[in-house]
Amino acid sequence: IHVRVRAESAPGEKRVAATPDSVKKLLAAGASVQIESGAGLGSLMTDAAYEAAGARVVRRGAEVEPGSVLFHVRPLTVDETAALPAGTVTVGMLDPFQNAAAVAAARDARVTSFALDLMPRISRAQSMDVLSSQALLAGYRLVTLAADAFGRMFGMTMTAAGTLAPARVLVLGAGVAGLQAIATAKRLGGVVSANDVRAASADEVRSVGGTFIDLDLGTAEAGGGYAKELAEDRARRQQELLAPHIAASDIVLTTAAVPGRAAPRLVTAAMVAAMKPGSVLVDLAAESGGNVEGSVAGERRTIAVPGGAVTLIGARDIQSDLAPDASKLYAMNCANFAALLMKEGDLVLDFDDELVSGSAVTHDGAVVNERVAAVVE
Ligand code: NAD
Repeated sequence: IHVRVRAESAPGEKRVAATPDSVKKLLAAGASVQIESGAGLGSLMTDAAYEAAGARVVRRGAEVEPGSVLFHVRPLTVDETAALPAGTVTVGMLDPFQNAAAVAAARDARVTSFALDLMPRISRAQSMDVLSSQALLAGYRLVTLAADAFGRMFGMTMTAAGTLAPARVLVLGAGVAGLQAIATAKRLGGVVSANDVRAASADEVRSVGGTFIDLDLGTAEAGGGYAKELAEDRARRQQELLAPHIAASDIVLTTAAVPGRAAPRLVTAAMVAAMKPGSVLVDLAAESGGNVEGSVAGERRTIAVPGGAVTLIGARDIQSDLAPDASKLYAMNCANFAALLMKEGDLVLDFDDELVSGSAVTHDGAVVNERVAAVVE
């Protein structure tokens, strides 16, 4: 197969879907690799490094050869998709439920598109699971963002001049990102507690050193390890029960999500206003509706409270803040998936493989994922 690696076009996006190491892996599997000039610069990887690994560097936006497999990070725009030759295979994140127009464009251009963000969460898929690899980095970054905005030390510190108290950190939503945030906040010395609605999460939280807050709400699971949306009365009850924990926290990190739904609202504006001056909230769900009322993706807001202010940060593209690491993991996810599409170096699409069929969105002029088809015109 011929792999083409795109230089990302979205403003602020620093990640890239291949690294010199992943290029070597692709070549060893029998692929050839073209990479657009400058594609790796945001992740500190030069054209020369890709060339040394065996890739051919091509002009940014150079025409894609028919039959190529195009690696990307962000979903392509409608125009970028429409410009692809029929039969191109794309591999990357599609966010298809928010991007129906680009999915329709891929269908109409007879592009075969695979959404790595729809990969079934089974063990065989772990090495291709971009949601996990990118959520892990996001969880870490939430903590460093919070630590920077928090004008105090995280860890308890005893000195001859007195003792500094540790930061009290609350993590809401303990999936991949939340668990990484707990572990990271713990390493900085914070006293960390967390809440989630999945049955397995109490043990998972404890395993990374957090204290699980049991709200006695019962669990809400949709199957496949995902959470279900809470009914309105239970959601309100969750807010009420969380309120005292939020008021007692210095740092609140929110990562709660329900696939295909707006993010659950866990923290109201009144709860933010009841926090201590100097407290910090970082909302990873700001782009998908917000776990915290009033959070805006990409904005750092200061909210006046008696005696000072609370900082509310809406996360946006925070994996790009750690682009070299994010790209390294993402590139290997792509290369591992590409291996499923190859037989002795040739492109073979085996839709009997549940990882191939589970992540396929368009093929042969049709939307092949039923749930996505329901939202595409
Ligand atoms: P996600 O991003 O969909 O959601 C983040 C977290 O928010 C989840 O833990 C969810 O339970 C939680 N949440 C939802 N509503 C909430 C509410 N009202 N209050 C508090 N928390 C709420 O989740 P994710 O990080 O993608 O992980 C989802 C599941 O997939 C987990 O069970 C994880 O262990 C599993 N997983 C499996 C694999 C694998 O086997 N390959 C890989 C990664 C993740």
